[in-house]
Amino acid sequence: MMHLNSSFWHLWLLSLSLASALSVPQKTLAESPEDAVSELTQHIAIDDVEFNITDYTSPDEWNPTNWDYDVVIVGGGPGGLAASMSLARVARTSLLYDSQEYRNEQTRYMHDVLGQDGQVPLKFRTAVRRQIDELYPDYSFWATRKTKVTGIIPLEKGFRVYDDKGGKVTAKRVIMATGIKDVLPNKVGFAEAFGRGVFWCPWCDGHDYKNRKMVVYGKLVSAIGSALNMRKLTTDITIVTGGPITKEDKAEADARWPGWETVIKNIYKIPIRENDINKLEPTTTNMEPKDDEYKVYLNAGSPNPLVTNGMLISVPTTQTSTLHKQLRLEMDGKSVKVKSNMESSVGGIYVVGDANNDNSTNAYHAMWSAKRAAVSAHVSMSKQEYLDLVPAAMVAAAGGDEDFYRLQIEDLESQIGEDVEQMYKALGG
Ligand SMILES: Cc1cc2nc3c(=O)[nH]c(=O)nc-3n(C[C@H](O)[C@H](O)[C@H](O)COP(=O)(O)OP(=O)(O)OC[C@H]3O[C@@H](n4cnc5c(N)ncnc54)[C@H](O)[C@@H]3O)c2cc1C
Repeated sequence: MMHLNSSFWHLWLLSLSLASALSVPQKTLAESPEDAVSELTQHIAIDDVEFNITDYTSPDEWNPTNWDYDVVIVGGGPGGLAASMSLARVARTSLLYDSQEYRNEQTRYMHDVLGQDGQVPLKFRTAVRRQIDELYPDYSFWATRKTKVTGIIPLEKGFRVYDDKGGKVTAKRVIMATGIKDVLPNKVGFAEAFGRGVFWCPWCDGHDYKNRKMVVYGKLVSAIGSALNMRKLTTDITIVTGGPITKEDKAEADARWPGWETVIKNIYKIPIRENDINKLEPTTTNMEPKDDEYKVYLNAGSPNPLVTNGMLISVPTTQTSTLHKQLRLEMDGKSVKVKSNMESSVGGIYVVGDANNDNSTNAYHAMWSAKRAAVSAHVSMSKQEYLDLVPAAMVAAAGGDEDFYRLQIEDLESQIGEDVEQMYKALGG
């Protein structure tokens, strides 16, 4: 269970002669953190993240005896909130930071979440926070409203977290529920209409446009897929391809959807407009989904706008936070790569919700993955606390520190698995 396997931190910390494992207890501290610090450049600039290192001035700062929190949670959407509650249930303290740039900020109602269908996202978050406050005041804490985490640096067995209000805290683990942003076409009307008629997820918003007019906007191959996903809800669909269909577009569509011209054009009678969109203009100031209607102005050769109630788009996304760059987390395309327990390439840092590479972006996934990370963080901290108490002589007798701890951890992991299995069998499972 080696940590700091990101090349940046590895090299950096090695250059400080500091230990290379975070969660495996070390027998010795850095040989001389004070000396190392004097050699350390005080200012690190990584890509677009600038970060001042002002710590590591004493052994206690590298390996604190007291921790401010068990876990720091970054992000207060459904992922971060679920982590907060789950940790509190097992008496783990957490501090949650939230810069409040929610992916679904503009959407009017959330859907397809049991007990919350049709709920206003802000009301959902407020109700969850209120419940956590009432039930777990001793464990779940919130950083001041709208506080952004600006840096996370590893310590021997945890992390120090810095924020944009000048604060810093230590925690044994970090759960990043930092989310993603949709990169919308840079065209008039799209930003305002996103989540208010323009959307990417049929499950979230599609039902509001049942039996109404829909435009599906995107490259031919993806537009065909999107149109098929919407067609149970409405048959009044127009595909707009963003420009003339090229030979390559057609070949791609032929390969992915053999027979698409027959089915889409002739049988489903879905018109295909080989235009781009210049602008979107709402025809109403009413705010409810039932009132949504837009004029869609196409480019050259199309003087009359299309009129539609909704528009399904497929757009690229980007990480909301830049912390993954600062920490040099391994990526999978635009997403942070995680193991099945949601741990990133830096041990002790978990990434949950939209930000990770589960390839699933919805409220359920955010909550489920956060729950998974919270369980893993708790189990690993419990092991760590136990192992820290094993007398040094026993460690030495077992042949040294790292191997001893690794074996113990593996052994404990299998024991925990067996315990659960035995319990299940005892209950008649
Ligand atoms: C228009 C639209 C409609 C949607 N409708 C639905 C729906 O009906 N049902 C559904 O299940 N899903 C829906 N979704 C998807 C859903 O919104 C996301 O899957 C969900 O919000 C992901 O939760 P999250 O906690 O991972 O991220 P988010 O909810 O995006 O929260 C991330 C949080 O992390 C914070 N953050 C980032 N970096 C930092 C930092 N450095 N310091 C502090 N805080 C930071 C951000 O400010 C933000 O508050 C919709 C999405 C969109 C765009």
